[in-house]
Amino acid sequence: MTCKHNKEKSLWIPQDEVAKLLNVHFNTIKQWRKAGRLKFKIVRQKGIGKKVFILRSSMERAFDSKCLFCGIIFQTRRPEKADFCCTKHRWNWFNRLRSKGYSHRGRPQKGEKPSKKHLA
Ligand SMILES: [Zn+2]
Repeated sequence: MTCKHNKEKSLWIPQDEVAKLLNVHFNTIKQWRKAGRLKFKIVRQKGIGKKVFILRSSMERAFDSKCLFCGIIFQTRRPEKADFCCTKHRWNWFNRLRSKGYSHRGRPQKGEKPSKKHLA
């Protein structure tokens, strides 16, 4: 049985605890907050100063990323860097951009062959 008080308390988690729970660096949490990946609130406490709390439901989605090519939601350790669910879709996306005349930072440089680096 859960009472309302406990339920509300568990909605917001201190961000240092979130970092531990997700096993990511504290700075990653900061980046995700800035990128809007995590919902947060800042609570000012007397004597302690500012404390940042993360909304649990957004924490649970922290590793979700959406594939730019097919729109599928997938889980990854580096969601801020992963834009594709698989390397095939990464290449499909870049090929599509190229055919439209766009360039992209992930595209191999002139004279450079696709390497492991690009497929990682
Ligand atoms: Zn995909």
